[in-house]
Amino acid sequence: MIRDKDSFDPFLDSLRAFVRERLVPNEERVARENAVPDELVAEMAAQHMFGYSIPEAYGGLGLTMEELALAAIELSQCSVAFRARVGTNTGIGSEGLVADGTAQQKQRYLPDLAAGRKTASFALTEPEAGSDATALKTSARRDGDDFVLNGTKCFITNAPIADLYTVMARSDPDKPGAGGISAFLVERGTPGLSVGKPYDKMGQAGSPVSEVHFDNCRVPAANLVGGLEGHGFKTAMKVLNKQRIHLAALCIGPAIRMLNDAMAFVAGRRQFGQALMNFQLVQAMIADCQTEIQAAQALVLQTARQRDAGEDVTMNASICKYFSSEMCGRVADRCVQMLGGYGYIADYGMERFYRDIRLFRLYEGTSQIHQLTIARHSLKQAGHPVGR
Ligand SMILES: Cc1cc2nc3c(=O)[nH]c(=O)nc-3n(C[C@H](O)[C@H](O)[C@H](O)COP(=O)(O)OP(=O)(O)OC[C@H]3O[C@@H](n4cnc5c(N)ncnc54)[C@H](O)[C@@H]3O)c2cc1C
Repeated sequence: MIRDKDSFDPFLDSLRAFVRERLVPNEERVARENAVPDELVAEMAAQHMFGYSIPEAYGGLGLTMEELALAAIELSQCSVAFRARVGTNTGIGSEGLVADGTAQQKQRYLPDLAAGRKTASFALTEPEAGSDATALKTSARRDGDDFVLNGTKCFITNAPIADLYTVMARSDPDKPGAGGISAFLVERGTPGLSVGKPYDKMGQAGSPVSEVHFDNCRVPAANLVGGLEGHGFKTAMKVLNKQRIHLAALCIGPAIRMLNDAMAFVAGRRQFGQALMNFQLVQAMIADCQTEIQAAQALVLQTARQRDAGEDVTMNASICKYFSSEMCGRVADRCVQMLGGYGYIADYGMERFYRDIRLFRLYEGTSQIHQLTIARHSLKQAGHPVGR
């Protein structure tokens, strides 16, 4: 749902201009320095990027799902590191609070997150609980007015720079699976919380990811999300269901960018006495990229509108995430191919996108996990429910 087209269109135009004029020219610098420079973070904050999905009452823009998807498609037409920098505030790091936080918790944290003064992160995954997140072992033992957390989280985006961690931990050791899990808001500087060294990754230089360790980390019971024990996995799933549509939109921007760059290249480079773009096998690659990008965009925007209308989009969110992330991988592969040897050379930029976007098929549910979700829902709808 677009609430007011007259104000939303200029917002998208100005975002598009900011991406082209400020972010794209700084892509190589971010990759080289392995960080988004502070001055650009400040500019992104001034553009309200940290608060896209946070309600207006807390200083955010309160974008609807359709508006957020359209903004994500624009914002992601540059190096993935930029949107990863804001992405935990506009997404997984704030969404648990927005969905299930108490009024007090929202008031305490959301204004700083929306303004980009503080950075959020979402800590669900553990070394032995990846795709099966319900197997998580980080414990949260009640002790008076506190919970005491012990355990390790891995692969946490923005953990090295985060001020606030939404942590899923098992508060009821007697309840295996989802039921015994609660969500906690843990502030940087809390004794017993430490973060690991940022991983050396395949791509997304400038987006720091690390482990988070809890060693008798004492968290006030007031920081239990929503004040509800045993509700943490539901909160996490609410976050991820929305985020899957958001991430699907974030897969479309890089695909558009890669195709545009590849088309500029094949229009300029000549072989056999003519521009590469004249060869029909090259045109076939362009057509396949364009077709899949448009299909993903239609799917994501339709699902976003359905979510805005209050429909249950659990299966469709998985379809969006699965199709868009796989689509982006296929587009990246074709675009490297169109550039020939230059597609493999760092100076031409395509190889960076190729590496950066590989993550899309792995996090927030691997493609295989989404295939399972889609199949289970389809079978259930057809009257053939399957067990776990
Ligand atoms: C850079 C990066 C950033 C991340 N950011 C975050 C973050 O901010 N917060 C967070 O909580 N997590 C984060 N993650 C974790 C991410 O969500 C997990 O890596 C992902 O869920 C997969 O878990 P795993 O790596 O343990 O793989 P595994 O679960 O071990 O899976 C390995 C392979 O087995 C397949 N597989 C597993 N189970 C099944 C099954 N039942 N059927 C068929 N195939 C199956 C998978 O599809 C995959 O191909 C991040 C990961 C990375 C790499």
